[in-house]
Amino acid sequence: MRQNIVAGNWKMNNTLEEGVTLANEVNEILKANKPNCKVVLGTPFIHLAEVAKNVDCELVGVAAQNCADKVSGAYTGETSAAMVKSTGAQYVILGHSERRAYYGETNAILKEKTDLVLANELTPIFCIGEVLEEREAGKHFDVVKEQIEEALFHLSAEDFGKVVLAYEPVWAIGTGKTASPEQAQEIHAFIRQTLANKYGAEVANETSILYGGSCKPSNAKELFANPDVDGGLIGGASLKAEDFHGIIAAF
Ligand code: PEP
Repeated sequence: MRQNIVAGNWKMNNTLEEGVTLANEVNEILKANKPNCKVVLGTPFIHLAEVAKNVDCELVGVAAQNCADKVSGAYTGETSAAMVKSTGAQYVILGHSERRAYYGETNAILKEKTDLVLANELTPIFCIGEVLEEREAGKHFDVVKEQIEEALFHLSAEDFGKVVLAYEPVWAIGTGKTASPEQAQEIHAFIRQTLANKYGAEVANETSILYGGSCKPSNAKELFANPDVDGGLIGGASLKAEDFHGIIAAF
């Protein structure tokens, strides 16, 4: 059966010291309260090696928030998938709406990044989701379908089976507005059906599809209770160990 996952996305927050302290706090809480889901911390690049060294890898996975679309070479300021792998991290968040909006990441670029992440035996946590105008125009189904098709549908069924999806309506990210459980279930079921049409029911049923967008301890349970919501990608509420654990404890 597919895995339930709660993944934090720290974004550009926390100095190295603060980040290691937070990771250690999460680790200690989970040692005392065994989680019923996979837990992942998405840290800035500079934290990855130290966090991966400090946490119990049975309890806490570690994710980069991005990686380069090139293998190596003269790309000043970039970090390759192979470099991420060498830190001990196991996941890479790809296609976050902030990367798409502020750094021009297109589906074509994300296709390259996905291939490099998989080639380095890392797990992509691949983000999709519509902006408010697209939702209001009723285009959200088409938008997520296109994002998946253009960035991921070149993959073999075997490789697609290694991908985790995160549906994140952009209008809900960091806004305090959450998709209702019904809205989340409706589009998650649509996403799973889209996968089934391409790869068959087995691959679709094995794919974890996370929800992201103002998920917090007070609403996680009703979101995760939906049959097609397999956990969450958590921004703001992942920056405090207690809040993050409140979401993990929804499973
Ligand atoms: C995110 O950035 O992936 C996110 C879901 O943020 P927040 O939980 O703060 O809305």
